Amino acid sequence: MIVSITGATGFVGRRLVQRLHQDKYCVRVLTRSKSKAQLVFPVREFPGIVIAEEPDWKNCIEGSNAVVNLAGLPISTRWSSEVKKEIMESRINTTSKVVALINASQDDLRPLVLVSATAVGYYGSSETEVFDERSSSGNDYLAKVCREWEGSALKVDKNVRLARIRIGVVLGKEGGALAKMIPLFMMFAGGPLGSGNQWFSWIHLDDIVNLICEALSNPSYKGVINGTAPNPVRLKEMCEQMGNIMGRPSWLPVPDFALKAVLGEGASIVLEGQKVLPARAKELGFSFKYSYVKDALKAILSGES
Ligand code: NDP
Repeated sequence: MIVSITGATGFVGRRLVQRLHQDKYCVRVLTRSKSKAQLVFPVREFPGIVIAEEPDWKNCIEGSNAVVNLAGLPISTRWSSEVKKEIMESRINTTSKVVALINASQDDLRPLVLVSATAVGYYGSSETEVFDERSSSGNDYLAKVCREWEGSALKVDKNVRLARIRIGVVLGKEGGALAKMIPLFMMFAGGPLGSGNQWFSWIHLDDIVNLICEALSNPSYKGVINGTAPNPVRLKEMCEQMGNIMGRPSWLPVPDFALKAVLGEGASIVLEGQKVLPARAKELGFSFKYSYVKDALKAILSGES
């Protein structure tokens, strides 16, 4: 199976490429920077991988069996109005480009599947509501980004099976939120961020990669699928578990103002959250390797996974 991937050089993409390469898929990396991607995927470790910058994305997508779309400017930065514009445009423009190339492919060379990332931010934030795939969208900035991002993916040819994965906070040792949270925890003796009552809908990196792989090969995976573990936690519980595993006290909260000083408006992604359940993944019989945050953190922080 030939799979083209945007955002392949990122935190989730790197693990996905490793996994697909191991499983003998033919991988085509669609990147903005060939030289960067060549460093991430050195030819001696990834023989046979194709790395393409534009305008060669067209030749890669045409003739692929599937496309995975993960590209987007990281959201956990300080949000200025320019950054907010780029957070939106990086997702909409890349998704629209990928969709246009899929739609313009010759019929017999058109990919059959598009797995496109989006995020649990789609639902907005709440300390009391429980969201699943049938829930409606929120009305904050991130919800708008996710709606428009998904809207661009929905323009794909109707014969292409589209899976939109609303991803929760991905936990892994090589990047994502955890890599940013650990130094903050160390500085502030490992306490919760903000009130600690906000929901934290997480998923282990191995599980999100497994979910994407299932979506590539299993025709039942279509429409919206939440990419979150079955047991979201409040952030204070996550911090307690981290404190226990790291052998550090976890009672001193990281104050809102400290986070806002570092992240500005972007602090809302850790100060506000949502409880999102993976109802579709459960219906589809997806088997999570990590259902509880304690087990996921133990595996990650001990370097086992
Ligand atoms: P990363 O930030 O690690 O990587 C995303 C990739 O997108 C980069 O490697 C880069 O690839 C590309 N990219 C970066 N900036 C831009 C830009 N301005 N325009 C176009 N492309 C850009 O993301 P993750 O691997 O963590 O996540 C993958 C996707 O899943 C993202 O879209 C993210 O928003 C979403 N998601 C992730 C979550 C998480 O916790 N990690 C949670 C919810 C959603 P290159 O330089 O090769 O072009």
